[in-house]
Amino acid sequence: MPSVYNWQLGRPMEFPYQEKHPQRQFAFVFNINRCIACQTCTMACKSTWTFGRGQEHMWWNNVETKPYGGYPKNWDAKILGMLEAANPGAQRWSASPKSDQAPYGRFDGKTIFEAAAGQVGPDGPKRAIGYLPTEEEWAGPNVFEDHALHAKGGSGGSGGSGGSDTVLPEHKVWFFYLARLCNHCTYPACLAACPRLAIYKRPEDGVVLIDQTRCHGYQRCVEACPYKKSMFRPSTGTSEKCIACYPRLEGRDPVTSPNGEPAETSCMTSCPGKIRLQGLVAVEPDGEWTHDPSNPIYYLVRERKVALPIYPQFGTEPNGFYIPPRWVPRPYLEQMFGPGVRSAIEQYVCPDRELLAVMQLFRTTQQIIFRYKIEKGPKVAEIEVTMPDGSSKTQEIFNDTVTGYNKFDQPAVRITVEEPMFERPAHVGLNSI
Ligand code: SF4
Ligand code: SF4
Ligand code: SF4
Repeated sequence: MPSVYNWQLGRPMEFPYQEKHPQRQFAFVFNINRCIACQTCTMACKSTWTFGRGQEHMWWNNVETKPYGGYPKNWDAKILGMLEAANPGAQRWSASPKSDQAPYGRFDGKTIFEAAAGQVGPDGPKRAIGYLPTEEEWAGPNVFEDHALHAKGGSGGSGGSGGSDTVLPEHKVWFFYLARLCNHCTYPACLAACPRLAIYKRPEDGVVLIDQTRCHGYQRCVEACPYKKSMFRPSTGTSEKCIACYPRLEGRDPVTSPNGEPAETSCMTSCPGKIRLQGLVAVEPDGEWTHDPSNPIYYLVRERKVALPIYPQFGTEPNGFYIPPRWVPRPYLEQMFGPGVRSAIEQYVCPDRELLAVMQLFRTTQQIIFRYKIEKGPKVAEIEVTMPDGSSKTQEIFNDTVTGYNKFDQPAVRITVEEPMFERPAHVGLNSI
């Protein structure tokens, strides 16, 4: 297999195709600390794209309760188990050296592509390890919703009641909501596994699509996608997946884009928890993200490393990034988001001036923000913050103003750190409107 560079693993890896990168990449950051599992995102996608016959079980966007929820059921535990079986005791990260090309250190274990070496499938050598979920596993997207304990009420090992290494402010019984969609991976396993070459990655925005005219419904993509975000539709005999609402990305939605401004997707813009920020990052020919700290996605992912890729060890270089939940035991989070968890949470718990300002941009406009600018304001507060290790830190809060600009460098949003207060005049009655 050809060798490609995976910056999330900090090393080259094997992939069935030569390295080739889009000019821009669809990417998103979810702040898990704020998700309330209202499922508005889920229904926004469902009512836009998957309300047809044969799509009943298709939830391109879903929100599951971790550690016990999962759609399809146990998807991540199963893949992790398969990788462990292929490389027992060696699915590990090296602590150093870290660099721009290896921001989390180096993953020394095997990816889903490397673990498939020597295996043969119906179409010849297997491209990636994986499995086809059963109908029962696809049936219940909300199983274990809001569960902090597993079915028998026990601790569930490291994922249960906390464990002895848990220190305040982590809670002893915990769960969190994990919103998921296709990660429009840099090295998509769905694409790698398709014998019909029906799956492609768009050069303009890195969106991964299934050509319905080429798909013959072999479901190799369903089997290979480690995130289980390619799904089979029995009524058409083809597989389907999230299309990143590409008409919106292209600025073709007449409601959100009257002048052709690229807009965020339906699931992103509908989020009342304000956990989501989606964008397009520029990519160099070698796959490196173009250095641009004024792009909020670049800033959060590459500059500050406060948002981390989901299961980077799978090897697909997912473009979905998460600010990890601060109350969850670290070993569980490190398995899910890699070795950057502690540093990400430390920054999130006590954000500095710039990070606090950038975090105001989540869900303030439907337009994609291509750059932001901060105007400095007065200091408005000073608070004591308890850090994850129990120590105390002083956070200064400034009422800075942050402006987000669209693709055409026009202001799309302007917001202050301190929410303005408006006092109703005394003489106005309750029903004055
Ligand atoms: S809409 Fe936002 S807050 Fe609600 S479940 Fe989805 S990601 Fe979470
Ligand atoms: S998440 Fe799965 S379906 Fe989406 S691009 Fe990656 S491998 Fe393909
Ligand atoms: S990006 Fe669009 S198609 Fe994809 S999950 Fe969100 S709403 Fe659905």
